[in-house]
Amino acid sequence: MSDDTAQKKSPAAGREERVLEFWRKNGIFEKTLQKPAPRGEFVFYDGPPFANGLPHYGHLLASFIKDAIPRYKTMRGFRVPRRWGWDCHGLPVENLVEKELRLASRKDIELYGVDRFNEAARGSVMRFADEWREHIARIGRFVDMNNDYRTMDALYTESVWWAFKTLHLKGLIYEGFKPMHICPRCETTLSNFEVSQGYQEIKDVSVYVRFPLERDGSVFFLVWTTTPWTLPGNAALAVNPSVLYAQVKIGPNQYILAKERLSVIKDKYELVAEMSGRALVGEGYRPLFDYYENARIPGMENAFRVYAADFVTTGEGTGVVHIAPAFGEDDFKLGEEKRLPFIQHVSLNGRFKPEVRDFRGLPVKPKDDPQRTDRKIVEYLSDRLSLYASEEVAHPYPHCWRCATPLLNYAASSWFVKVTAIKNKLCAENKNINWVPPAIGK
Ligand SMILES: [Zn+2]
Repeated sequence: MSDDTAQKKSPAAGREERVLEFWRKNGIFEKTLQKPAPRGEFVFYDGPPFANGLPHYGHLLASFIKDAIPRYKTMRGFRVPRRWGWDCHGLPVENLVEKELRLASRKDIELYGVDRFNEAARGSVMRFADEWREHIARIGRFVDMNNDYRTMDALYTESVWWAFKTLHLKGLIYEGFKPMHICPRCETTLSNFEVSQGYQEIKDVSVYVRFPLERDGSVFFLVWTTTPWTLPGNAALAVNPSVLYAQVKIGPNQYILAKERLSVIKDKYELVAEMSGRALVGEGYRPLFDYYENARIPGMENAFRVYAADFVTTGEGTGVVHIAPAFGEDDFKLGEEKRLPFIQHVSLNGRFKPEVRDFRGLPVKPKDDPQRTDRKIVEYLSDRLSLYASEEVAHPYPHCWRCATPLLNYAASSWFVKVTAIKNKLCAENKNINWVPPAIGK
């Protein structure tokens, strides 16, 4: 840049540009890497940015910190190699390319061709690299941008696989399930951020269903749910041990529910007994569907019983909660804790599995009419006298931000690192780390 242009700017900006020019011309950064380093090498870890967006204030602020520390360490006698990187993976790139190619779902991408899709992503990922080079140089950050690396380079990918393999050889990798939200149309899991993008108020069918006690078929647990389609996946019922429950008589039958929730009963009733939730724990009941009664699923011996759970409240429903470990966060946790069977009666495409004989192949929450399948289930339950009442509820429900299909809470299979196995070592090592500010490391 000529002195002429520099002089039209503020004196400070002009001075900065002259300093930058001096650094560049004299290779000052390179010289700091070549000078003697009596105290050895200081390793600086830097998370690379995405290059398919322009640098913003957050990047620049972090860049100042990422510049100051290596400079300080250099002045203290260390050699601090700094290599620039580009993050090329993940949703930001995929979303951009999907929009540009007008692809709305996983199927669209498969039809377009995964290889062609990847090629388009590869082509788009570095589109703002030149702007980055300009900005990072202008803020005076010392970093090697000529010898940069990209996370999409085979060498980098292999280093990630190496780390994964090393963890595997140490026995620290396992496959498990994690409750997430899936879009049955895109057949993919969504991140929490994506789920929060798509909440809409919708009307659902909520049902009050009756589960007969194992020991007395005329006494029922009264249970409320807004997701009738999850009922074939029922594995247990949950009560709050410190809540007071009531047993009431209506005609020839008796019902058990939280005393505070008796208002949900519209019939004339007679109070027969009161008991704590704790007294109900362990009580056996008969499931509403027999699809999995004799299935060889681990934990089946613990199924169809009442368990204690603190998350059960009396704010709504009946205080007796239907537990389907494959379809909800609390359900999943209780299932793990009590070793309940993991009954997954719905496939990743959102349709009932073949063993769900009466509803096989039906989408559990159709996009054009989310209540359609739930209404069929209500009809089925009503025919078999398992239904006490049903009503419409309006509530916020998450939808796919890509295709507006109602999402399903679904425990999907994933790979995990067994952090619990190395927790003690991690905590011990943490004490040797100089956290700034100290509260972060606590
Ligand atoms: Zn979708």
